[in-house]
Amino acid sequence: MAVSTRHHPADASLVAYAAGTIEPGRALVLAAHIAACPDCRRTLGLAEAVGGALLSGLEPTPMAPGAREALMARLDDPEPAPAPHSPPQRPDWIAVPAQVLEAARRRKRWAAPGVWVASIAKGPGRRSSYLLRVGAGMAMPRHTHTGVETILVLKGAYEDRGQVYGPGDLAENDETVDHRPQVTAEGECVCLVFADAPLRPLDWVGRLFQPFVGI
Ligand SMILES: [Zn+2]
Repeated sequence: MAVSTRHHPADASLVAYAAGTIEPGRALVLAAHIAACPDCRRTLGLAEAVGGALLSGLEPTPMAPGAREALMARLDDPEPAPAPHSPPQRPDWIAVPAQVLEAARRRKRWAAPGVWVASIAKGPGRRSSYLLRVGAGMAMPRHTHTGVETILVLKGAYEDRGQVYGPGDLAENDETVDHRPQVTAEGECVCLVFADAPLRPLDWVGRLFQPFVGI
């Protein structure tokens, strides 16, 4: 699907991704953004061709030492490299690694009216990655975060503090953020999330909501 990303990871996150110093769960979210985002691929100094390779069923582990040189050498090669094997994708989502599609198929759980969650991985500590679907026009309860939440829109859009986040857009929210994101009226929104810890509700709605949703 056509994507035009406007919200990107912080440069420090991209550097940590490239250096392999971030958790696999956060790398998974960043990999899907980078695959959808020519700007971030340029920032990383990677060729466009890497976008597909990031999604070709590989673990979202960062590149090994020397891999970039090997890649660049391959790109200089007049023989076209074989197309990476990509997992079948959902046409209404931006492209994601196979394990994300698998989680959506096998672990989707309706948590509240209009809301489903599909766990992808848990730990270490209280870290978790999951898919979150929220229905058209719905607002999340007001909350903040412990540690950092990295959230990527796969489908639809939500509005947060005057900004609209659409497919491919990524946000990094920490404990300085006090917000109540709201899905736009056009349709459901599906996000891929990695969080260091469960969100921290700031109102009674959230305190009621959280045990059911479990995020
Ligand atoms: Zn980007």
